[in-house]
Amino acid sequence: MNRQDFPILEKTIYKKYPLVYLDNGATTQKPRCVVEAMSHEYYNVNANVHRGVHFLSQAATDLHEASRETVRQFIGAGKTSEIIFTRGTTESINLVASCFTQAFMKEGDEVIVSQMEHHSNIVSWQLAQARCGIRIRVIPMTDDGRLCMDEYERLFNERTRLVSVTHVSNVMGTINPVKDIIRIAHEHDVPVLIDGAQSTPHFAVNVSELDCDFFAFSGHKTYGPTGIGVLYGKEKWLDRMPPYMGGGDMIKTVSFEKTTFNELPYKFEAGTPDYVASTGLAKALDYLSAIGMDKIEEHERRLTRYAIEKMQEIEGMHIFGPLGEHINEHDAVISFEVKPLGATKDTPYIHHLDMGTLLDRLGIAVRTGHHCAEPLMRRLGVEGTCRASFGLYNTPDEVDTLVAGIKRIQGMF
Ligand code: PMP
Repeated sequence: MNRQDFPILEKTIYKKYPLVYLDNGATTQKPRCVVEAMSHEYYNVNANVHRGVHFLSQAATDLHEASRETVRQFIGAGKTSEIIFTRGTTESINLVASCFTQAFMKEGDEVIVSQMEHHSNIVSWQLAQARCGIRIRVIPMTDDGRLCMDEYERLFNERTRLVSVTHVSNVMGTINPVKDIIRIAHEHDVPVLIDGAQSTPHFAVNVSELDCDFFAFSGHKTYGPTGIGVLYGKEKWLDRMPPYMGGGDMIKTVSFEKTTFNELPYKFEAGTPDYVASTGLAKALDYLSAIGMDKIEEHERRLTRYAIEKMQEIEGMHIFGPLGEHINEHDAVISFEVKPLGATKDTPYIHHLDMGTLLDRLGIAVRTGHHCAEPLMRRLGVEGTCRASFGLYNTPDEVDTLVAGIKRIQGMF
């Protein structure tokens, strides 16, 4: 789908193999229109935003604020004041972990996360734990990577202040039942942060319909530039949270005695924002909307099913995450390990690093390792996995190339 919009996909790897890019979970490639919109801004509009009276500054400010409106529409938020530009999902989560805990949590209060979180949704809470003694509770999961919802309900008590879970697992592709997660939390009057890093690129997200209290995602995983991300937050929380960082743009007045803070969303946007990246992000979101998120979802789901089917035919293959009757809960991320040809039940799996390195020699880019989810690796009983993750431009032919590559490597051991 739309491969011609992504010049990098034309690349030949090691002067021999056409690039098969299956590392979209780490970052997506950029369509030409995103790069062109950014270079156009640098060449024609560039000036610092918000504080300038001159023509270019106002033009740059208009572009930056128009991008905020594009983001608002894309995720179905009610107000642009609830859209905060950050550097990415990590910064968005850290902002909440820092400012929400400061405003609403004290020693012994609890945050609920899940077994399958990315480190950014674990370590940020551990930093808060070190600062103010909060406790972290963990939703367990089944062996096939689905959250135990009964156990989740049992984690709530009078000290629970926040739930922070990922929408889609970056390792197993599990699509979590976030609507239920949010409903249950709200029944306990507890707000919810959704880590949307791996959902926003793959299917339509509507924060108003979800009714989540916070939602985080990254530009670079959504076909936009690096260095920009988004935190959506309900005004009722953001208003009562202290600023994250001090500096320009986030103030109303400053004296050595007392400083007052700017209104939302600027209270959380200290310093010069990446106003060119915001343009790039808006362009990327417009690009996705023009294709249609439903179409992207359908294409990627079909591709994922095809890949799982073909990979399951490989001898000695083990795929992580929901399969079989739960295949509908499996998004476009496939973690796997595979044994050598002719292996017995005691033969160890081929090391993920060997598999990844040898696939690379065939021009196939996958990710290997713990995927910034070490607690999940421990739960799965592995040190790491090999992960193929799809984007809108991947094709069944590329899946065939991956499968052929895995089989060829199997024969080498
Ligand atoms: N959460 C999840 C689920 C992710 O997959 C990632 C990126 N791998 C992150 C958070 C962090 O995103 P970023 O590095 O863009 O801040």
